[in-house]
Amino acid sequence: MASLGHLAIGLVAARAVTPEGAPRRQKIGRAVALMALSMLPDADVVMFLFGFPYEHPLGHRGASHSFAFALAIGVLAGAVARGLGRSGWRVGLVVAAVVASHPILDAFTDGGLGCALYWPFDVARYFWPWRPIPVAPIGLGYLSARGMQVGLTELLFFLPCWAYAFWPRPPAARAAEASSGGG
Ligand SMILES: [Zn+2]
Repeated sequence: MASLGHLAIGLVAARAVTPEGAPRRQKIGRAVALMALSMLPDADVVMFLFGFPYEHPLGHRGASHSFAFALAIGVLAGAVARGLGRSGWRVGLVVAAVVASHPILDAFTDGGLGCALYWPFDVARYFWPWRPIPVAPIGLGYLSARGMQVGLTELLFFLPCWAYAFWPRPPAARAAEASSGGG
């Protein structure tokens, strides 16, 4: 897994799809939801507990790190959004893109096995030819010197994402928000 990089993508997506004048609660809700979705594929580490080894198609970086999985989660989210009277297409596309960003990033990391990007059609694990992101230790291993080093590297690597996500809003947008009672 990469780590902070996934969260950065979730934050960027949340900022991109949320109007500047939206209520703060909505902004935070979307940011939290999209950050969780950006990390969702790594929920597959529970498969270790069920005895699936890393290299198994259902193991870590297996099925959940495929484009098919991202598409399925997108379709599911779209259906739920539609049921709630929202734009199913829009929500589904954003969710699928954020989930798909996870294995795309992982395939840039320099350790572990690659991602089963094309599961279920192809169970081979893939990396991109260029792998500049140091792989993060799994689970509590992150709370180590190596984990800190990886965290700092990703913090710097994704600097443009943090900047975009947290850049102060223009005064006009803030004024509009204040007058609409948001906040
Ligand atoms: Zn991962």
